[in-house]
Amino acid sequence: MTISQRIEKIRQSLPVNVRLIAVSKQVSAAAIREAYQAGIRDFGESRLQEMIPKQEQLKDLPDICWHFIGHLQANKAKKVLEHFQWLHSVDNLSLAQRLNRLATEMELSPQVCLQVKIVNDPNKYGWEIAELLQDLSALEQCQQLKIQGLMTILPVGLSESEQLDVFYKTNELAQKISQRSRLSITELSMGMSNDYHLAIQAGATMIRLGTILFGERALLK
Ligand SMILES: *Cc1c(COP(=O)(O)O)cnc(C)c1O
Repeated sequence: MTISQRIEKIRQSLPVNVRLIAVSKQVSAAAIREAYQAGIRDFGESRLQEMIPKQEQLKDLPDICWHFIGHLQANKAKKVLEHFQWLHSVDNLSLAQRLNRLATEMELSPQVCLQVKIVNDPNKYGWEIAELLQDLSALEQCQQLKIQGLMTILPVGLSESEQLDVFYKTNELAQKISQRSRLSITELSMGMSNDYHLAIQAGATMIRLGTILFGERALLK
C-alpha cells in the first residue's frame, strides 16, 4: 500500500473528533509531501536538527502544523518555539516556566500538552500525578502557553488491559485538573501505531501515528 492508501484507510476508521498526527521522524520530506497531498496537515517530529531542513524543503506548504513530540531539552526551548506550533512533551515546571518566558519575549502563544507519567518509570519523562497536581497553580501563571492537553506514552510490556487502564487514568487526570484549576484540559494526546485503538476507546483526541502510515523506520531511507 502507498502512504496515501494507508492514510485513507486509517482515516475512515477514526471518529471525527480525533486528530491524526502523522509522526514523520526519520521520514523524508518527499514522503511528508505525499502525506500532505493525502490531506494530512499535522506532523509530529522529535528531533529539531532533523526537522529544520525538512521544514525548509516543505516551506511551500504553509498550512502544515508541526508538533514537537520528543524530549524537550531546556537549551533547545527557543528553537523549538521558533519551529513548532504544538509542544506535546512539556514535562516539568521549570521547562514550562522557561517556555512561558521565552514565548512572551517572542510574542508567540504555543499550544501545549503536559507530558504525564501514569505508571512510575524512572527511565521515562513526565510529571507524576501527585507532582502535577501540586504544580497546577504555578502552571496557571504560565499564561503565554495555551495549555490544552495531557500527553502520555505507554511504558513497554503492559498487557492490553493495563494499557487501557493507563489511558483511562490519563483521561481522569485531565478531568481532575480541569475541576481543580483554571486550566481547561480538553486534549488527550495518546495512542501510537500499536495502541491507538485503545487510546481512542479511552477518549484520545490526538493520536500520533508513525509506523502504520510510513512503514517501519528501520527500513526507511
Ligand atoms: C515515534 C513516536 C510516535 C509514533 O510511533 P509509532 O509506533 O511509529 O506509531 C508517537 N509518539 C511519540 C512520542 C514518538 O516518539
